[in-house]
Amino acid sequence: MAASNVVKILSDLVSRPSVNPMGRSVPHESPFFEGRVSDYLESFFRSLDVPFERRTISPGRDNLIAKFEPSDARHTLLWDAHQDTVPTEGMVIDPFRPSVEGGRVYGRGSCDVKGGMAAMLSAFARLVNNRPKGAARVILACTVDEEYTHTGSSALASQGLEVDLAIVAEPTMLEVVTAHKGAVRWKVLTEGVACHSSRPRDGINAIYRMAHVLTAIQNYSECLQESTPDPLLGPPTLSVGRIEGGQSVNVVPDTCSIDLDRRVIPGEDVDGVRQALRDALHQALGDSIPFAFSEPWVRMPSLGPDRASSWVEPVREAIGTVLGQRPSISAVPYGTDAGPLSASGIPSLVLGPGDIAQAHTKDEWIAVDQLEQAVEVYYAIACHLGREGLTNAH
Ligand SMILES: [Zn+2]
Repeated sequence: MAASNVVKILSDLVSRPSVNPMGRSVPHESPFFEGRVSDYLESFFRSLDVPFERRTISPGRDNLIAKFEPSDARHTLLWDAHQDTVPTEGMVIDPFRPSVEGGRVYGRGSCDVKGGMAAMLSAFARLVNNRPKGAARVILACTVDEEYTHTGSSALASQGLEVDLAIVAEPTMLEVVTAHKGAVRWKVLTEGVACHSSRPRDGINAIYRMAHVLTAIQNYSECLQESTPDPLLGPPTLSVGRIEGGQSVNVVPDTCSIDLDRRVIPGEDVDGVRQALRDALHQALGDSIPFAFSEPWVRMPSLGPDRASSWVEPVREAIGTVLGQRPSISAVPYGTDAGPLSASGIPSLVLGPGDIAQAHTKDEWIAVDQLEQAVEVYYAIACHLGREGLTNAH
């Protein structure tokens, strides 16, 4: 039965730790990195006897990409779900021992997004086994490193897949998400000259220099709040989240750095927003305060509603056949794999079981009925969007 099947798959996934180290230096062993989930996926696709590839993105981190290829398919869907989870510090349940209680499955990743992945795997297996007439071609991509730098989906996006529509699993309560902001994160650095703190005039204080930079950034971020907002997502934002500098209270500091988080809206370009800040700082500070930018370690494009607009109604109609009514369309504040996919030209939507309020929590869970409905929803979308009458979608 599909219900017990999806819960079983989710339990299998949760019991295989795949914690994203989030940029920290950690050993290549449990619970870090996605290898255990990738091995499970490989045997899952092998047992279905479908073509698949295991593509290494960085050492020990592989995208798994499987294909359901009916010969008469008219459209191709990309289903995307990420293999990694956030870390487990502070959790009050055993993160890797899935438990099913009171209509919920508990465990790290159950909501974000192993639940969505289990539903996609279950629907994919049903497509392969039933081969419903007129179904779309489905490429199921299980990516790595969504929670930190999106290297998996960025590699997938640059692979040149011929796809009509990508559906990205994230907990949306089975609503159709058409837009979200993107993010760029990088450091600004100032340098000085170290000397003994009893003779500060002999040196140059990098923290004092950064103070000027910070004031200019704060002014700039306030202007940004007043800039033309996106109708769904509001204005872009800029925030300073960390500062680091100095070695000791008795040494004039020769370095200082801050971490910036710039949220971009559709229409903004990741490189363009960095240049705009650089120009604003030069204008505010002149040549008196030298500073430098690091390369960004996160460059996640936004998702705008335009590219996938003609697919939204067919998708809602397919979901309506399962749920009895068409789901809402919404925009969300968090970023997803749909950013890089959409930026590469693939129309993309975000759709999955569970509530984002339960993602990344200390007792993460997902409702079993959401999981079961998601299996039906994904399956219905593959059947519905394979049919004709979607010529307006091109
Ligand atoms: Zn996620």
